[in-house]
Amino acid sequence: MSYAYDDQNIFAKILRGEIPNTTVLETEHSLAFRDLYPQAPTHVLVIPKGAYVSYDHFATEASEAEIVDYTRAIAEVCRLEGVTLTAGEGFRMISNAGSHGVQEVPHLHVHILGGRPLGRMLAKA
Ligand code: AMP
Repeated sequence: MSYAYDDQNIFAKILRGEIPNTTVLETEHSLAFRDLYPQAPTHVLVIPKGAYVSYDHFATEASEAEIVDYTRAIAEVCRLEGVTLTAGEGFRMISNAGSHGVQEVPHLHVHILGGRPLGRMLAKA
């Protein structure tokens, strides 16, 4: 079964310039922008420009150039935000997928969170 991508999702609209965003970094294949409802002092979303729903979709079907660009863009955002282990106190990356992952926007995004202690990874169910 192939992955279905809805090009009306809000991040696709951001990529087309139809709605604004606060850009942190733009590269050939990736865009990073601030989350509209930040949950930590650093809360940046990093998305590939390609039409990928989730990380497994991206890792399966993206080109090596896209994967390298995206991976490096995530690291560069961490550097720009001062949360790397070389310059700061660390961060958390989260990428939600599908209904069990409680993904709201069906375009791959990694949340980069930092700037304060973030607590345990998951609340107890
Ligand atoms: P997720 O639940 O992983 O799909 O997360 C979607 C994230 O997108 C949430 O943290 C929202 O606050 C964020 N979000 C929704 N709309 C926008 C927008 N227009 N600009 C920036 N962030 C957004």
